[in-house]
This record gives sequence, structure tokens and C-alpha cells, in this order.
Amino acid sequence: MADMITLTLDPETSEILMNDFSTFRTDPPQYALFQCRIDGCTITLYKSGKAVFQGRTAAQYAGKYRTAADTVLPQAGSDEVGTGDYFGPVCVAATVLDRESWSKVNQLGVRDSKQLTDSDIRRIAPDLIRLLPHSLLIVSPEKYNDIHRQYNMNAVKSLLHNQAYNNLRKKTALPSLIVIDQFTPESSYYRYLKGRGDIVTGIRFETKAEDKYPAVGAASIIARYAFLCEMDRISEEWQMEFRKGAGTDVDECAKRFTERYGKEQLYRVAKLHFKNTERI
Ligand code: MN
Repeated sequence: MADMITLTLDPETSEILMNDFSTFRTDPPQYALFQCRIDGCTITLYKSGKAVFQGRTAAQYAGKYRTAADTVLPQAGSDEVGTGDYFGPVCVAATVLDRESWSKVNQLGVRDSKQLTDSDIRRIAPDLIRLLPHSLLIVSPEKYNDIHRQYNMNAVKSLLHNQAYNNLRKKTALPSLIVIDQFTPESSYYRYLKGRGDIVTGIRFETKAEDKYPAVGAASIIARYAFLCEMDRISEEWQMEFRKGAGTDVDECAKRFTERYGKEQLYRVAKLHFKNTERI
């Protein structure tokens, strides 16, 4: 089913929206001020200030126009980075936004971190790190390979998110709204944590959460920044560039690495259970 998101915009935000999409403008329906069709989304702005985003990419486009009225604050959120990348660590960040930090964070242009370029991330993240109470876990490939012998990827993610919230609640109180960008169903998440004494509960699991919850978006940016810094560091350490993702260019990198340093060193820079390992 197509997503639908309804926001209530103030006049200023309405202007910004109409400006942003002026080239995609179509004839608005009755009672509407403006309508546009963009890739996977129709946006209709009504005279009342109600804005309706409809379609596959609704959450992605709506993110920018959320006002304080549409945002439950305070909110906590977490996200992980590096689980789709053969090289480099897995990074998980969790953070809390309150009303005050929300408006500052908004000015920095925090939206879906996936839409931000690496240089955007490098520019924005240091401010977020300074402004927001947060926790950050960086699991090196070496450590990851070790843990993965015992736990599958989703179990590892569950353990890390739970740990991130435990670390975060030592710094600041966790609000009643806590959101994880869903990677596994809620029941599986808690099953992976079964038997632990430190389980953070009452979490909301949602897909595309980084578009819907600015705390998740901010956590995602912090995690991505940590990932980039680690990639820089290992590139320096091994004197070669490591590609992101898990595609054929990554296979080439891995071949170059093993030629230079030997297969037995690969566990220090790569997640060995990926198919890439077999391919090289
Ligand atoms: Mn995610």
C-alpha cells in the first residue's frame, strides 16, 4: 500500500514547499492551493495548511517540512551503518532530541541521511555530536567477525542497538518515544536479547524511520560520520582506498588487498561472511 503522510504547515513552510517543487506543479484539485507530482510521490497542499504526501517516497519528501507541531518531542532514535558494506566497521548511534535541540538540528538540514552526500555528513555531523546527547558504538571488522561466529547479523544489530540505548540512558533520561529504524520484526528483536538483564523496552520499530523521526535521522548521520572516519583511518593504515558497499568494485579492492597483504589479513578490514569473500 502506498504511504500517506499528512502534515500541518505554517504559511512560511507552505511557501518553501511550493517553491521547492514549482517546476513539478500540476493543476491543483478543488480546495487545494498547490499540487505536484514527483518521483513516487504526489504532494497536495490545501488552503487550510494541510499538506498530504502520497506514494512510495512520501516519507522521504515529507521529512523536510515537518514542523514542531508534527513532531513528538522529546524523542530518542537509533540507526546503524556499515551492515551493507563489506569493508569497514558497523557503527550504531542513538540520540535524544528535545524541543530546543530539534530546532537547532533542523537548521543544520538533517533529513534522511541516505539523501545526504558524504561531504554533507562530514559538515553536519560534528555539530550534531556537539549539540546532542548521544552514544556511539563502533565495531571493528575484526571484532565483528568474532561476534558473527556466534550471532547472525540481525542478532548483532539487536545487541548493538540495545547497548547504544543502555549507554545513552547513562547520559540522559530516555523519553517515552524511542524509535529504531526497523531491521527485524519487534518480536525477533527481543528474542535476540532474551536472557539479558539490561533490555531497553518500549521501543517503536518503524521502517524508513530516519525520514519520519528526526532523532533517528540525527543518529543515522552520527553513525555514518563515524563510519566515514573509520574508512579514512583504515585507508591510511593500509595505504589503499576501500570502497563502500559490496559490489564488484569492492571485489577488486579485496583482490588488491589480499595480493598486497595476504588473505589472512582480510578479517581485519572486511566482514568475512559476505559473498565477496568467496568471489575473490
Ligand atoms: Mn537503518
